[in-house]
Amino acid sequence: MKVNKKNRLNEAGHLNASSVSLYVDAIKLNLIDRLPEEIYQHALECLSCSAEILQLESLLEGEDYSQMSDHPFFGKLHSQVLISDNMDSLDSILEQLKEEAATIPVYERLLEEQVTYRNVYTPVIKVDSPGAEKLYTNQVNFKFATESDKPVTLIVENHQERVLKTTLDPNDASYSLQFNPYDKFPSGLYYWKAALKGGKPILGKFYVYNPKPSAEA
Ligand SMILES: [Zn+2]
Repeated sequence: MKVNKKNRLNEAGHLNASSVSLYVDAIKLNLIDRLPEEIYQHALECLSCSAEILQLESLLEGEDYSQMSDHPFFGKLHSQVLISDNMDSLDSILEQLKEEAATIPVYERLLEEQVTYRNVYTPVIKVDSPGAEKLYTNQVNFKFATESDKPVTLIVENHQERVLKTTLDPNDASYSLQFNPYDKFPSGLYYWKAALKGGKPILGKFYVYNPKPSAEA
């Protein structure tokens, strides 16, 4: 079936308003992989459109999409793929989480930039924990070191919402995040950002495995 080619870009060749909002919906609904190729690719390559997407996403931060059952573009929405119960090794769980992860391309690109420029700029915040792309099951411990005396802001989010925002003392910049209550911390990919007050954030990601507690305990 031939699909009508919709207008995704504006006259200047950037994402139009409806493309930007479709991208934000895709982030919130965990459906990045179903975005039209043209939108996906453009956002990947265009800094100003990425910025617009992030801006709209933060405006819609409080919007709860979890009860949405239908979407004008994505159609019927069904619940998340569940990790099968008979997985016993953490390695295979991590592998599956990575396969199913809804990555946020604009964050992924920032992560790549960080790696690229690591040798050029000395980061003002040193990360002791969490480890890059590690799997955590009950809690994750953040531990940063900095020479600065400015407080460190720490934000953690998954594709649905911001799950933590806190401020840490620069002399003891550590925080233990418990994956509790269960429904606030679904299994999957999480991004974190840490920044000195007023500074540029550093970004990282990790995976959470937090199986639903059995109803009949
Ligand atoms: Zn653009």
